[in-house]
Amino acid sequence: MQKPHPLVAGNWKMNGVTASHAELEALSTLLKTDSPAECEVLICPPATLIASSSNMGLSAIKIGAQDCHSEVSGAHTGDISAVMLKDAGADYVIVGHSERRADHDESSDLINAKTKAVHNAGLRAIVCVGETDAERVAGDTSTVVLGQLLVSLPDSCTSENTVIGYEPVWAIGTGKTPTVEDVADIHTEIRTALTERFGEDGAMFRIIYGGSVKPSNAKELMAALNVDGALVGGASLKATDFNGIIAAYRA
Ligand code: PEP
Repeated sequence: MQKPHPLVAGNWKMNGVTASHAELEALSTLLKTDSPAECEVLICPPATLIASSSNMGLSAIKIGAQDCHSEVSGAHTGDISAVMLKDAGADYVIVGHSERRADHDESSDLINAKTKAVHNAGLRAIVCVGETDAERVAGDTSTVVLGQLLVSLPDSCTSENTVIGYEPVWAIGTGKTPTVEDVADIHTEIRTALTERFGEDGAMFRIIYGGSVKPSNAKELMAALNVDGALVGGASLKATDFNGIIAAYRA
C-alpha cells in the first residue's frame, strides 16, 4: 500500500533576521553531504525572510509561511494574503498554530477560511490542531482535536494540498512530549476522521507531530503509527539540530 511521503517542517516563529540565511545555507550543505533522507524538508521563516530565503535557490529546502489572511487583498493593515505569500516564493502556509489560536483568538471557522485561501492561491496548508494541558487532564484530547480538525478543514482539502499538524499545546516549547503510544493513538484517530471525511484520499494526508521534537526523540516519535513527519519550533533554528531530526528519515 502507498504511504504518505514524510514532511519535516521547521517553524522559526518570530525569530530570524538577514543573518539567519546562514542557517539555511548550512542546512542545505548538511542535506547535500549527509546520506539522503526520505522526507521533504520545509522551513517557515518570518514573513520578512520568505522572499530572500526562496531566492537563495536551495533546491532541497522548501520555504513556507506561518500564517495568512483569509482574503486575497483589501484594507487589512499589517496582514498578508496567501496570494502575496505565493508571489514571495512560499510553497506552504501554516494555519491555526496554537499560538495564533491563543494570541490572536483565531477560531476553527477562521482557520477554515484561511485554509481555503491557501488552496485558492495554489499553495499547501499545514493545518494545526492540539489540546491544552487542562483539556488533556480532563480526558478531552480526542474531542478537542477532532472537533478542531473537522471545522478547520474545508471541503477543498486533498492529500496534495493539506498537511495536518498535531501539536499538543502543553508540549510546545516545554521539553515535554506525549508517549509514543499516545501520539500513535491520536494520529490514528485523526487518520480515521480523514478517511471518513475524504474517502480513500484520507489515507494519504500527511499527519505530522509537533511539540518538543529534538534529535534525541525524533526517531521514536517519527516511527509511531500514522506519524508522517514533524513540525519543529525551537530545534529548527539551528541547522545541525534540524538536520539531526531529519536523520529520523535516513537509512
Ligand atoms: C511549534 O511551535 O510548532 C513547536 C512544535 O515548537 P517546539 O518544537 O519548540 O516545541
